[in-house]
Amino acid sequence: MDLILSITVCCVTMKIHMAILPIQTELKERNKILRAMSQEVKDIGDPRIQKLIGDMHETLENTENGVGLATPQVGKNLRMFVASPALELAQTVFINPVIVKISKETDSMEEGCLSVPGKYGKTRRATSLKVEAYNEHGKKFKLKAEGLIAQLVQHEMGHLDGELFIDKAKNIKTHS
Ligand SMILES: [Zn+2]
Repeated sequence: MDLILSITVCCVTMKIHMAILPIQTELKERNKILRAMSQEVKDIGDPRIQKLIGDMHETLENTENGVGLATPQVGKNLRMFVASPALELAQTVFINPVIVKISKETDSMEEGCLSVPGKYGKTRRATSLKVEAYNEHGKKFKLKAEGLIAQLVQHEMGHLDGELFIDKAKNIKTHS
């Protein structure tokens, strides 16, 4: 009886430890974190990195229609992003990602960003690429991406270099 109780308490505690983080937005003044070059993650096993990964998933799931979230968007200049499980990718955590192959072919695609709320525009992106990264367990993987996923990877990796889609988007529209 005591054992069951303590397991229940443990699960409740773990749930409480997950946090929804405030998302950094590009306000009128320049947001320094969103515009800075992010640094590589040195120790993926560090409990602070593991907690940050959990919090970023929680934060992304709490948004209305976000499919990706990069670490600078939650106030930390680290080279990492998470993808929504709704995309059904083999991996949802991309740590120290590097694009190792990218198509010459590009397409202009509608885009928005949780850090630029209410604005949408057409951004020209490569239609396919291959990305190499480490997952949350520190295991290196390669992922081939096309279309929306290739667009997502380029968008999120832009965040790691201090770029926002509005830097290159055309016909930016504001929706309230
Ligand atoms: Zn974004």
